[in-house]
Amino acid sequence: MPSLYAMPIEKLRGVGKKRAEQFQKLGVHSVGELLNFYPRAYEDWSDITEILDVSDGETVCIKAEIGAPFQRGYTKNGKLILKTVVYDESGGMELVFFNNPYIVNMLKYGKTYIFRGKVDRDLSGIRMVSPIFSDADKTADIKPVYNLTAGLNNTSVIRAVEQALLLMPDEVNDPLPEHIRDKYNLCDLKFAIKNVHFPANSKALAISRKRLVVEELLVLNLGLTRLKSHKRAANKNIVKTDYSKEFEKLLDFTLTNGQRSAISDCISDITNPEISLNRLVQGDVGSGKTMVAASICYTVIKNGMQAAFMVPTEILAEQHYNSLKELFKNTNINIALLTGSLRQSEKDKVRKKLETGEIDLVIGTHALITDKTLFNNLALVVTDEQHRFGVAQRAKLLSKGNSPHLLVMSATPIPRTLGLIIFGDLDISVINELPPGRQEIDTLLIDSSVRPRALGFIRRQIERGRQAYIVCPLIDEGESDLASAQDYAAELMLNFFRDISIGILHGKLKATEKEKIMRDFTQNKYQVLVTTTVIEVGIDVPNATIMMIENAERFGLSQLHQLRGRVGRGGEKSYCILVSDNTSETAQERLKVMCSTRDGFKIADADYKLRGPGDFFGSKQHGLPPLNISSLADTRNLELSQEISEYVIKDSINLTDDRYRALKAEITRLFKKTGDETLN
Ligand code: ADP
Ligand code: MG
Repeated sequence: MPSLYAMPIEKLRGVGKKRAEQFQKLGVHSVGELLNFYPRAYEDWSDITEILDVSDGETVCIKAEIGAPFQRGYTKNGKLILKTVVYDESGGMELVFFNNPYIVNMLKYGKTYIFRGKVDRDLSGIRMVSPIFSDADKTADIKPVYNLTAGLNNTSVIRAVEQALLLMPDEVNDPLPEHIRDKYNLCDLKFAIKNVHFPANSKALAISRKRLVVEELLVLNLGLTRLKSHKRAANKNIVKTDYSKEFEKLLDFTLTNGQRSAISDCISDITNPEISLNRLVQGDVGSGKTMVAASICYTVIKNGMQAAFMVPTEILAEQHYNSLKELFKNTNINIALLTGSLRQSEKDKVRKKLETGEIDLVIGTHALITDKTLFNNLALVVTDEQHRFGVAQRAKLLSKGNSPHLLVMSATPIPRTLGLIIFGDLDISVINELPPGRQEIDTLLIDSSVRPRALGFIRRQIERGRQAYIVCPLIDEGESDLASAQDYAAELMLNFFRDISIGILHGKLKATEKEKIMRDFTQNKYQVLVTTTVIEVGIDVPNATIMMIENAERFGLSQLHQLRGRVGRGGEKSYCILVSDNTSETAQERLKVMCSTRDGFKIADADYKLRGPGDFFGSKQHGLPPLNISSLADTRNLELSQEISEYVIKDSINLTDDRYRALKAEITRLFKKTGDETLN
């Protein structure tokens, strides 16, 4: 409907300047946008209840005749009350209206109407107060309910939409071409738009919604796929020689097949003149992603270019720096650390050496590397643990310098369906195995009556020289986690762990304080770390072998999996104790998933099915265009849209086929909203 997007909403009868402004507040500027302004909900007027069947407090539709003229009365504070009685075949009920003198003109004695409202039923009888109503013969079966803004009521929106529908041409330009609709059994656009606003019946509504949902998700999928192919345009940093075999000689272990294949995916990208590396390496905690990154850095550097390794926190930066420095000690690679807590003079020195090219590999936090740091010839950026990096942010990063290759590492296993969305513009390599000889993590589910025994067990681990994490009870939003962590730790210090040194980590601490506590824990200055969920992803304290998580039922499974990944990192057998007093079947079932598997992908799938996509996106903006009618929690339609997307691409790789012209236009329109103009 391209022409309707160009038609301002004021063109509709009854929509003047003021009304148009009200619509604009709702994001509706054109007639086309009004047609896409779908109802927020529906009132089903088709389902009529008999008066005697109603129960107290229920919202129902009653079809009944006005059985007496209205009686007037007044409340104590002078409000007008109008009362009457209505009857259907089953019986009668009282109708009451307050302060609405016009009702007597609208509801005529002896006529039948449909009344919709909440009923009160007690021994004195049945009553409906201030119902909405409609003529019995005129009622649309299912009425749309729209989002509104000051001055704009539902009826005005309905009127405007009615007119807009009349303006739809006989042949609308359907983004879903006929052969796709036929193949996947989807209705056409005109039917869908009509019925999503004014459903003929509940089946028509379901068919229409489904089609609009699938179309929106398809447009999203195709858009992300196209974004990916654009980003892959050209390789500005062609790597000539593959040094990954030489890299392996530096290691005192052999790489797993999963690591090797991820490395070779990356190498084939960076050596290909037509493609640049734009890849996500997804591997469970402990799968050895750092070595994959290190290998690619090595090859890039050996080819005379620079690499940057970005991590979210200083402590992780230090850890990576130390292990890579050790790894590269007998090579001629110059490696540097760049974090906020370095002295200014040191930072300046590192920056200078990066600019001259004296340093080959820099490891640091995001801000430091993207800020005013200049490189001599930066060819590769590695970002660790950044699954919350938005599409737009990545695009910006790639536009920096001379379009460096990008390698993203993520430890969060993401269900395939969602991975395609979140990382739609990245290629994905999955490391689906752990290095051999990993210690088991025994996971146990207990209730709080067993806590003293669990604490005794933790004590024995500590006596053997091990360390423990205790993840504090989750508290309600709005309260501070400070109380939770401090109270919990205080309790331990006074009782069970009087003689043990305990560190406390919570969200109210400054970043530098958090880092200090983590660092001290790494150096075994504390035997127990009482922590809220602020605990760092990716932190590596191999000596910590036990973790106890309170209120475990209140965490997402993926989050529990991430937390548990902090133990089992050294040579000792490790334990994870989940404490929960929630005996509901679903809670127990969820937690048992944790006890039964350590496979992050299985856990992620279970989590997605049980809780929806929220946890995978995190609270931060994900950079996707806003969705109008669909939801990423709608797994079924998401999968269907991905199937259609694959079909369409196979059918016409760049959607050049004329049958996809309207679809292509929709993709451009959707992605304009994210500010991504690449897709023109
Ligand atoms: P993650 O994928 O969680 O980032 P790391 O890269 O931190 O995992 O690796 C975890 C540990 O496993 C490190 O101590 C690393 O040296 C070790 N490691 C990595 N690859 C192998 C391997 N192929 N064999 C044995 N140990 C390995
Ligand atoms: Mg890691």
